[in-house]
Amino acid sequence: MGLKLFNTLSRSIQEFAPLDPAGKKAGMYCCGPTVYDFAHIGNWRTFVFADLVRRYLEFKNFQVTHVMNITDVEDKIIRRVRETNASLREFTGKFEAAFFEDLEKLNCLRPHQTPRATEHIPEIISLIEELLARGIAYKAADGSVYFSIEKYRGCGCNYGQLLKLNFDEMRVGERVKSDEYAKESVADFALWKAYTPEDGEVAWDSPWGKGRPGWHIECSAMSMEILGQSFDLHLGGEDLIFPHHEDEIAQSEGATGKPFVKYWLHGAHLLVEGKKMSKSLGNFFTLRDLLAKGFTGREIRFLLLSAHYRETFNFTLEGLVGAKTALARIDECVGKLREIGVQVSIGSSQETFKPELQPHGQFSTALDADLCISAAWAVVFDWIREMNKRLAENSLTAHDAAIALTSWDKIDSVLGIGAKSEVEIPVEINSLLEARQAARKAKDFKKSDSIRDELKAKGWIIEDTPKGAKLKKI
Ligand SMILES: [Zn+2]
Repeated sequence: MGLKLFNTLSRSIQEFAPLDPAGKKAGMYCCGPTVYDFAHIGNWRTFVFADLVRRYLEFKNFQVTHVMNITDVEDKIIRRVRETNASLREFTGKFEAAFFEDLEKLNCLRPHQTPRATEHIPEIISLIEELLARGIAYKAADGSVYFSIEKYRGCGCNYGQLLKLNFDEMRVGERVKSDEYAKESVADFALWKAYTPEDGEVAWDSPWGKGRPGWHIECSAMSMEILGQSFDLHLGGEDLIFPHHEDEIAQSEGATGKPFVKYWLHGAHLLVEGKKMSKSLGNFFTLRDLLAKGFTGREIRFLLLSAHYRETFNFTLEGLVGAKTALARIDECVGKLREIGVQVSIGSSQETFKPELQPHGQFSTALDADLCISAAWAVVFDWIREMNKRLAENSLTAHDAAIALTSWDKIDSVLGIGAKSEVEIPVEINSLLEARQAARKAKDFKKSDSIRDELKAKGWIIEDTPKGAKLKKI
C-alpha cells in the first residue's frame, strides 16, 4: 500500500513517490528552530510531526535524509543579542543546546544533518549572486539585495504557489526588509541586508558590502546544498507558508529554473487550553514549563501525537493527565507480554500471520491515509484490549506473546513512545520488600503486615505472584 499525503502545493492528497528513480531515497527538510529563546509547545508540535513523518517513511523502508536547519541569525536574534550584550554564538549556542536536549526529551530522532545558517554564508552569497545574474534580484541604494517579484513573474515563474495572492492590490516598487511580514504586504523581500549599527558585531563581508543574510534565503541555500536543487519533502508549521516558504520557492526556482520541492507538508496550529498561546493569558508553555509541572516528555509526545497534523489541536493540562493514563494502559499490557513472551525466540518466516496479535499492518494502513493518527491509535488500543482479554483468560501462549511484541516494536518504531519494561525501584523500597519477605519466612506476620503498610504509605503495593513477591507503583 502506498503512502498518501496532503500536499499544500497541489492542495490535494497525493501518493508519495520520491524523486529517486529507484524509489528508495527520500530527502526531507524541516524548518528548524530560531534559537533566540526556548521552543514552545506550539513549535514542538511541528517537530514531533516531522519526527512522525521521518519515522513512518523509515517504517515504509525509505532511506530518509532528514535535514533541519538551525536559524542562528535573523531579526529577532539580532534584537536579543543587542539586549544581552553577548556574542551571537554565545547567545544562540545556549538555546541551540537547550533545543537538542528538549528534542531528546520528546524522543524525536535527531535529524541526520542540522546545518547552522552562520556556517553557510558562502553558499547563501552564491545563491544571491545567481539570482542577480539572472536579473531576478537587485541591489538597493543602501547595499541590501532584494528579490524582485516582478522580474520573477516576468520570466514565467509563479509567485503564490502555496497560497493565492492578489497582485492587483500590490503596489509597484514596494519592498520589505524585515524577515516577517503579512501577505497583505507582498513585496520585494531582502536576500541580503546591508549592515546597520543596530546589527552590532553581526556582519559578514559580501560582494555588496558588509551585511547579513535574510531569513528566507538561509533555508533555500542550506536545503539545496544538502538535498540537491530538487528534493522530496519540505515540512514546517502552517504559519511558515507565507512568506517564508513562498519565498523559499521563489529564490530556489528563480536561481535553478527547476522545481524546488515535490511535497510540501504543513502542520496546523496548536491552541493551549482553548486559546491562542500568549504570555498574558498564562497559557504559554515551553517544554521546560511542562516538565517542571511534573509531566514527562513521553506524555507530552503522546498528547501531541494524538491529533491529526492538519487539525488545529487543543492542548490542555487535562489532556496530559489523560496521556498518563493511556500510557499506563499500554505499559501494563506490554509489560505483561514481556513477562510471558520475552524469553521465546520466534522463528521462521513460515509462521502464519495472526492479525489479531500483529496489528502493525492495520496500523500502517491507517497511517498511509495522510497519517490518519486517530485510526492508528484505534488499532493500538483495540489490540491492547484483545491482549488484556487473552492475558486475563490465560489463553496467550509465550510464543503468541512474543510475536505480538515484535509487532508492537514495529509500531513503536513509528510512535516512539516506548513502553517502560521495568519501573525503577528505589533501594530503600527494595530493602523494605526484603525485610518483609524475611518476616514472612520467620512467620512474623505482624511485622510483615506493618512493612506492607509502610510500603503502601510510600506508594508501593506488593503483589504475591507464583514467581515471588513483586512491587507495583500505585
Ligand atoms: Zn525555513
